[in-house]
Amino acid sequence: MTELIILLHPDPRLKKICTQVINIDESIKRLCSDMIDTMYKHSGVGLAAPQVGILKRVVVMDCSEEGEKNPITLINPEIVWSSEENSEFEEGCLSIPNIREEIKRPSSVQVKFTDISGISKESYFKGLWAICIQHEIDHLNGKLFIDYLGPIKRSFITKKMKKYKKDIIKK
Ligand SMILES: [Zn+2]
Repeated sequence: MTELIILLHPDPRLKKICTQVINIDESIKRLCSDMIDTMYKHSGVGLAAPQVGILKRVVVMDCSEEGEKNPITLINPEIVWSSEENSEFEEGCLSIPNIREEIKRPSSVQVKFTDISGISKESYFKGLWAICIQHEIDHLNGKLFIDYLGPIKRSFITKKMKKYKKDIIKK
């Protein structure tokens, strides 16, 4: 098991648009399995490759009930349909620890992606899975959940995070 280092906001790599994966080679497979290990290690429900400094369109997630493990890997995920109905959910992010904010997003989405064995799939997500996949796809486009907040709240969080990062370097 390899635990990868999670980048913390603010970091320019978290603001970049990631590139498509053309070939699911050994390095991509290794990345996916390391990302799953890292996500579980930090008790996260989702992780996007840019969060570990790899600017490729790769997402892992597992929003199963506690005690269950059903990790899924989505390569080049793309939302092809989203519901008109919205839900509000208090989101968090492994790149912005200790911060949670209510974010409004479509309640359910249909996502086209390639799985780890290279097969094209389309899946319907609802509930926490739907929130999570939208949050992770945003990461692939350089967007963080705090970008949905107003500028004052957002800059307050960024200031707090800068201090947090300084403090962990000191330790
Ligand atoms: Zn996140």
